[in-house]
Amino acid sequence: MSSKAGQKRADEVIIDDTIDIQWTNVLENLRVDFDEDTYKSWIKPLALVNLEEDKAIMAAPTRFMRNWLMSNFADRLKNAWRQVNEGIHEIEIVVLSGLNAVEAKPTMSEPQSTNLKSAKSVTKGEPAKILSEEEFGAPLDPRFTFDSFVVGKSNELAYAAARRVAENKDVNFNPLFLHGGVGLGKTHLMHAIAWANREYFPERKVVYLSAEQFMYQFISSIRYKDTMAFKQKFRNVDLLMIDDLQFIANKNSTQEEFFHTFNALIDHHRQVILSADRSPSNLEGVEERIRSRLGWGLVADIHPTDYELRLGILQQKANGVPEVEIQSEVLEFLARRISSNVRELEGAFNRMVAHSTLIGRPITLEMTQEVLQDLLRANDRRVTVDEIQRHVADYFNIKLADLLSSRRARQVARPRQVAMYLCKHLTSKSLPSIGRKFGGRDHTTVMHAVKRIDELRQTDSVLDEDIIHLERMFST
Ligand code: ADP
Ligand code: MG
Repeated sequence: MSSKAGQKRADEVIIDDTIDIQWTNVLENLRVDFDEDTYKSWIKPLALVNLEEDKAIMAAPTRFMRNWLMSNFADRLKNAWRQVNEGIHEIEIVVLSGLNAVEAKPTMSEPQSTNLKSAKSVTKGEPAKILSEEEFGAPLDPRFTFDSFVVGKSNELAYAAARRVAENKDVNFNPLFLHGGVGLGKTHLMHAIAWANREYFPERKVVYLSAEQFMYQFISSIRYKDTMAFKQKFRNVDLLMIDDLQFIANKNSTQEEFFHTFNALIDHHRQVILSADRSPSNLEGVEERIRSRLGWGLVADIHPTDYELRLGILQQKANGVPEVEIQSEVLEFLARRISSNVRELEGAFNRMVAHSTLIGRPITLEMTQEVLQDLLRANDRRVTVDEIQRHVADYFNIKLADLLSSRRARQVARPRQVAMYLCKHLTSKSLPSIGRKFGGRDHTTVMHAVKRIDELRQTDSVLDEDIIHLERMFST
């Protein structure tokens, strides 16, 4: 492996005594900066992962600890680094769950601790154990189960494959490779597999982690001269899941190590499940031989959601909060208007629930449009007033010019009202701006049209169907 001088790859580990000495000095600075208890509870459990360009990467044993450090001590950590190495402009703390936290015992003083993770012990050449034998996967989200996963056309293949793998010990397709865009349920499915597998086969060792975590664990194992343990523990897994594999693109040593692990597991008939935001063949920056090997099992893609699936997901979420009253058209509106991804859809729903709980009123369409203005605007690009006007004119077989004219003949006036109604429902344009787009009409005219169509839909089933049909045209 070669890398151009002065151009460090992101996963290149610098095993350099001066870095360990730097870390020791950083810790010294921090020890002076903080009181003893704080130092022991928060700083000492940190381990150095690597220096990358102008960034110092450290690891904390828990997410909680990481978040707390980043929001409270980020500046002080950075300062401590900069005093030692002026080239450091950024710090990052990753979570390595196997990192043994030093128990915070404020009353005990242990000046020359033998904590294996402290930089001192490393410079002394002791075998540093940055990762414990078990517990090196990422935690699982209890909400991500098969029960809470709504199945539709776009994800049925991925879902079926996931279920099959979760419920069978036999390895039918190896690896299972799930791919699809952001927020379409890849992580959800992987966690669901882990939960189900634990339930069916509690004796099996199931490990889930992101490719990024895989990389940091690998890098740490090199730093702390512990690669044997690293290899060992990954090869002892019955079911290994690595999420967001695209992350290893252009990270050559991590790729290499991943491939060794992958092959070892497949050779021993252990199940491997991978996810990425694109198909194996499109994983640029990943070696060709790895890419092609990734496609040998079952490759299942998750397509963008359709309206029905989005509505199903929202209905399930609404069932989960029976105490909140939601007008039925709200869910349809959200499913139609927020088509980007499920994460955003859930975010919108949760915002509405929070809002309604705070003000103690049911969720109405009006309220939704108001509260979610920004979000709706961002999702608005697809349907424009012009498009609606064109489609409605086509649909009712009238001229666009007539639709926009002041003619009051019923056969153009009604389609015009329908078009205004759709603009109100499908875009986030205000009544005055819709009015302007219809030949400079007043906002009260638009308001009247919306109300009129609303009423007519109750009694005129033909018109109601026309509108359902038109709305569908805009929803995909
Ligand atoms: P990805 O990993 O593909 O980026 P996630 O699995 O994190 O996406 O999904 C994003 C959010 O959307 C999660 O909260 C997840 O529960 C939810 N979600 C995605 N697809 C579905 C689905 N089919 N049914 C229920 N929830 C879903
Ligand atoms: Mg994900």
